[in-house]
Amino acid sequence: MKIFKHINRIIEEIKELKQQRKTIGFVPTMGALHKGHFSLIDYSNKENDITVVSIFLNPAQFNNKNDLKNYPRTLNTDIKNIRYQFGPDDILFSPSEKEMFAEPDNRVFDLGHLDKIMESKFRNGHFQGVAMILNKLFKIITPDKAYFGEKDYQQLVIVKHLINKLNIPVQIVACPIIREEDGLAISTRNILLSKEERLIVAFIFQTLSKSLSIAKNISVEETKQWVIHQINSNTMLRVEYFEIVDNKELKTIKSWSEDKIKVGCIAVKVGNIRLIDNIIFNL
Ligand code: AMP
Repeated sequence: MKIFKHINRIIEEIKELKQQRKTIGFVPTMGALHKGHFSLIDYSNKENDITVVSIFLNPAQFNNKNDLKNYPRTLNTDIKNIRYQFGPDDILFSPSEKEMFAEPDNRVFDLGHLDKIMESKFRNGHFQGVAMILNKLFKIITPDKAYFGEKDYQQLVIVKHLINKLNIPVQIVACPIIREEDGLAISTRNILLSKEERLIVAFIFQTLSKSLSIAKNISVEETKQWVIHQINSNTMLRVEYFEIVDNKELKTIKSWSEDKIKVGCIAVKVGNIRLIDNIIFNL
């Protein structure tokens, strides 16, 4: 594996790889790597000659200072773990904030309605920070394909929108959510949960799963209310939103008869920690 910390050095390396006609798969992350990230790397390894994983904890996408302060930073362990998945020519890119922000990019990205709903209502500026850093990373890495988890569904749709708007020539590959045995979507923030909280949060996905059969007999609106009520009935959990939207534009689904792929997206707070998850309604 090759490790790059400097932008100019990795640009040179990528140039050389392109001259050799190698295809490049890119997996952007914020580090503290877990099975969710590793599955993205697996997909990239299978479909490309070279995989580039970036580890950059992007302050611009944190609206909450404490969340950023508490976010796990485990670069040395990440480097050890990633070795098991990397061949000699695969690349870990972990730039400094100083380099990434050397040329400030203060533009407002036009994300339209996608940046006014769900996460955006609770994390002001989050997707602007995501768009800014991904745009920089795509320019540096110039990948053929980039891999994103369906766990962050709104982010996935926004990334697809962004590359269309900015004409970035990359294929976005959506990868399925990796879960713990009890169904909890794996997330870096899970390790911040207390033992008690960790047991309780499995109820989020259990409720989403159960709602798939409940939904067959009730309306979309009633299903939303049912999920919110079930989860909020546990005093340690508080639903921030649960929306059922279409998979392309994230517009609210009004009726099960709509001929669209329907995704139920949820954010739940447990103590100070925020977890997100989603499920497809195949009705
Ligand atoms: P992050 O480091 O949290 O920014 O995540 C980097 C990438 O990993 C994003 O595309 C996430 O959607 C993806 N990811 C995180 N958790 C999971 C998971 N449990 N299953 C699949 N992909 C995931």
